[in-house]
Amino acid sequence: MKDYYDVLGIARNASKDEIKKAYRKLAHQFHPDKKGGDEAKFKEVNEAYQILSDDGKRAQYDQFGRTGPSAGPGGFDFGNFQGFEDVDMGDIFETFFGGRGGQGGRKRQKRGRDISIDIEIPFQEAVFGSERRVLIRKFATCDTCSGTGKADGAKEVACEQCRGAGTVRDTKQSFFGTFTQVVECSACGGRGNIPDKKCKHCNGDEVAVKSEEIHVIIPQGIENGEVIRIAGQGEATRGGETGDLYAKVHVLAHSVFKRLGHDLTMKLDVPLSEALLGGERVINTLENPLKVKIPQGVSDGEVLKVRGKGIPREDGSRGDLLISVIIKMPKKLSSNVKALIEELKKEGY
Ligand SMILES: [Zn+2]
Ligand SMILES: [Zn+2]
Repeated sequence: MKDYYDVLGIARNASKDEIKKAYRKLAHQFHPDKKGGDEAKFKEVNEAYQILSDDGKRAQYDQFGRTGPSAGPGGFDFGNFQGFEDVDMGDIFETFFGGRGGQGGRKRQKRGRDISIDIEIPFQEAVFGSERRVLIRKFATCDTCSGTGKADGAKEVACEQCRGAGTVRDTKQSFFGTFTQVVECSACGGRGNIPDKKCKHCNGDEVAVKSEEIHVIIPQGIENGEVIRIAGQGEATRGGETGDLYAKVHVLAHSVFKRLGHDLTMKLDVPLSEALLGGERVINTLENPLKVKIPQGVSDGEVLKVRGKGIPREDGSRGDLLISVIIKMPKKLSSNVKALIEELKKEGY
């Protein structure tokens, strides 16, 4: 069994574009209808493309390496590999039917819409995490009929539009000829049956607009602009999967602290005398008050590091708190102080 990357003549880290380019070039070159074409090679190229152009299959292939379908249990699964595909037809299908959801399956998975929301959180919540409840108006399972679409006591009867088949034929005219596609019946949502009396609230759609409270967990250490995905909390749709909810987090600035990677930074005013003599300070942090030692002779701009008081990481460790010292110079000196400074000067400071 040949290596798919070798078949397409690409590197193992090739991008999707590179894979597609290599595939097109080789598929045209080996197309059996062409003079000098090679059906065996063409099949090989197609097979490699089927796998490498699909993220999931590619990952599986990368992991399990060169095993083939005959490798038995634990071997590589080809999924619904179809073997042979006409290059140009593939492109035409893609153009006219708006993508095919991966190689192989022509039927697109029905799915509710994804919802995007924005959440503003205080700086502290971004550092330590929190939970939020957000009210969202969206299409969700109809409460009146519990998502059955039926009125009380209604019976299921065969759908008239598709005669119980669940699908109807959809024909499109194009420059290349007539294309017929089998699509899901819109009247019964692909089920073949419909209730003889529909739920009045959702009109048989099984979903209706309503307000729902969504629980959003803000993980600790989240950064401004990060997006939290909550699977299955988007909009519902009849006979399909529910969409996802995406919450973009906006972190409000803090008056004292700033974020630098997983470190917290702050500025600390230190009077000249404290810089000269050293001392101790209690700082209000985002948690408990913290005692910080001001080393004797600290310079302006020096950074004092308090380990493990920064932003939590996923592994449980934390960044540091970095305190920039700003030495406050006196603007006016009393005659007493002047005399003292003169003493300092004599000592060579
Ligand atoms: Zn209903
Ligand atoms: Zn129908």
